[in-house]
Amino acid sequence: MPTPPAASETGDPFLLTPGPLTTSQSVKAAMLHDWGSRDPGFIALNREVLARLPALVNAAASHVAVPMQGSGTFAVEAMLTTLVPRAGKVLLLINGAYGTRARRILEIAGRAVVVAETPEDTPPDTAALAAALAADRAITHVFAVHCETTSGILNPIAEIARVTGAAGRELLIDAMSAFGALALDAAAVPFQALAASANKCLEGVPGLGFVICRREALAEAAGNATTLALDLADQQRALEATGQYRFTPPTHVIAALHQALAEFEAEGGVSGRFARYRANCAALTEGMRGLGFCTLLPDHLQAPIIVTFRMPPDAGFDFARFYQGLAGRGFLIYPGKLTVAPSFRIGCIGRIGVPEMRGFLAAAAAVLRELGVTLAAPRAA
Ligand SMILES: *Cc1c(COP(=O)(O)O)cnc(C)c1O
Repeated sequence: MPTPPAASETGDPFLLTPGPLTTSQSVKAAMLHDWGSRDPGFIALNREVLARLPALVNAAASHVAVPMQGSGTFAVEAMLTTLVPRAGKVLLLINGAYGTRARRILEIAGRAVVVAETPEDTPPDTAALAAALAADRAITHVFAVHCETTSGILNPIAEIARVTGAAGRELLIDAMSAFGALALDAAAVPFQALAASANKCLEGVPGLGFVICRREALAEAAGNATTLALDLADQQRALEATGQYRFTPPTHVIAALHQALAEFEAEGGVSGRFARYRANCAALTEGMRGLGFCTLLPDHLQAPIIVTFRMPPDAGFDFARFYQGLAGRGFLIYPGKLTVAPSFRIGCIGRIGVPEMRGFLAAAAAVLRELGVTLAAPRAA
């Protein structure tokens, strides 16, 4: 008898992707109610959620969390178009699709940009950043991605913050795939704002992003926005005055995030979550290398969020069939998004642990057997 597919508590496949992710049964169950957006119960729940977020990056005294309805990109666009003045200029550190997306947001919004790009497997060059900031006084902000989910690379955010601060400029961070798992301390790594969302390492459901923003910067940002819906200063003004969102809030998503934050704290906060993801990443990487796959990144550049594997050159390996075989066994993986090499990605985040990773590796071995491929042993580095 064939083994039944692996499944989460609800019988769904495990999502080994960059998000949306597998969530706990209790997080999903938190959505089984209808809330009035103007009801004091919902207003209190929302306040509690937002009040907890800045502390996760040691920013409770200096920063405020402003929510933004929508996927993570809505929060990134809100951050960039609210905090960069119309006459501002942003130096973008790009080494993947999310940096490129930020550039497009700024260009559409008519903000001046200058790009410092490195290949997807190469961290930004902070010496070149220092030189670029010294050479161009018009640059007001630096934009960086903490973990570039395109490859899974960990960018040197502390060094980027140090160089940016030393040059007297402001740092804006896309921390979407890092927030809640990769430690960041606003006292040691100064930033004006970071954008993140409910449905990555916090293990909530999709539909809400947020920007953790220095209080004074938000106060000074009034009038910068080039859209109504994404104006964080206006959003914050309304929330402070009335506790209410300007436009329909994703009530169920916020209730799920409230539950997800309770589970996050029970797991030991950022360090607890990091430890689980690091164990997932180690089990995945070791197991996949054992099957003959090669990672794109060397271990010292790899964040324990999502791992990029090179497409094996072996003639019998067909990604579509590999994907389908895994999906049939209860695991959804992700195609690659790289320009440097054909690849695919496997996420380490969400409500999964080492047992699920082992289950995935057993499924991958079975699919390879089914395809009749024995991968060439990876060459020693
Ligand atoms: C997921 C992610 C985003 C947001 O993507 P959405 O599809 O809009 O949720 C932005 N930046 C990074 C680095 C991400 O990983």
